[in-house]
Amino acid sequence: MEIAIVAGTRPEILKMAPIYRPLALAGFSPVWIATGQHGDLATQALNAVGIEADMHLEGGWDARSLTNLSAGLLDQLGRRFEYNRPDAVLVQGDTASAYAGALAAHLHRIPVGHIEAGLRSGDPNNPFPEESFRRLIAPIADFHFAPTRLAQKNLRLDGVKPRQIWITGNTIIDTVLDMAGKTRRPEVLDARQPGEKLVLLTTHRRENWGEGIEAVCRAAKALAERHPDIRIVFPAHSNPRVCQTVDQHLGDVERIHVIAPLSYPEFIAVLKESYLVLSDSGGVQEEAPSFDVPVLVLRETTERKEAIDAGVAKLVGTDPDRILSAAEQLLLDPKAYDEMAGRNNPFGDGKASERIAAILQDQLVPAHDVKQAG
Ligand code: UDP
Repeated sequence: MEIAIVAGTRPEILKMAPIYRPLALAGFSPVWIATGQHGDLATQALNAVGIEADMHLEGGWDARSLTNLSAGLLDQLGRRFEYNRPDAVLVQGDTASAYAGALAAHLHRIPVGHIEAGLRSGDPNNPFPEESFRRLIAPIADFHFAPTRLAQKNLRLDGVKPRQIWITGNTIIDTVLDMAGKTRRPEVLDARQPGEKLVLLTTHRRENWGEGIEAVCRAAKALAERHPDIRIVFPAHSNPRVCQTVDQHLGDVERIHVIAPLSYPEFIAVLKESYLVLSDSGGVQEEAPSFDVPVLVLRETTERKEAIDAGVAKLVGTDPDRILSAAEQLLLDPKAYDEMAGRNNPFGDGKASERIAAILQDQLVPAHDVKQAG
């Protein structure tokens, strides 16, 4: 039985990678379809997790246009499913690739499994368009792999049948735990002086483009100026809307290193050594608690409320004063720091992919159904 894995962005690739082997061990033929939504970032991520795509879409769309991108992905995935029909399609998360993959499969009446189902911020404009994409996938998916109990609850509130939802944990924890022993120390860490605290900064969300990122840059600059014992590493997303703003504001500030996106083994090496993370990334919020690193979330809302409830992350938005005061509390008050570090990761235990493969085997393999019915 062929299971198509549709993935096109860096986070999707990192979160889909650990499912490939368990699917093969469960007797399926996994087929990796690289959509090409992210160019170089996707190639970097595929190399990091050692996956060679079985098929690449032709592309040819304008990725700056969400409609052109979505239409192109839908058309090309639809043609693949029509002429070379898989037995099931897996999509992950909340991207245009995930939505187009789910819709193309659904329109060809192919069962759809949604990994990381049920995340909800409650605001269709934040994160945009991710909140809409994941909500749109819910009514057309057949198997909903919820990372947490909260995600399961959200799906039930959306009317998804309880027997179609499984709590599996988030597959990124499988990836990050596997990577923890295989990291590669990037050159930027050589600049770190003894006793310095490392702060990892990332920001790329569309809602933060322009003013938001500028405000974050002002906060980072003030933080570095006020605390000579910290060093900030900022791998800036390759999207020109992000890296141009960042270079302009932080290109030449002492103890702030604005660098190109790090490969995953390098990024995890930096994360492991970090004292604190400032980020608007979804995946980074999920990974940091595995290394006891507190996260200040540079957003007004999060669909990953588990991190806030578990006390491993705090929402601080993009207002420089708010960022500064939250960061300084963690830098100066060891008690406040210890309260955030050293808690369990609420997003999983590293076994999500095995669970998903076992569920798919149970749900899709006819011999098993027959045995169960008997
Ligand atoms: N990441 C990486 N290199 C970097 C920055 C991030 O490998 O320079 C990884 C990070 O570990 C996480 C993922 O990329 O797993 C997050 O991607 P991104 O922030 O682009 O997307 P989001 O998670 O917000 O959807």
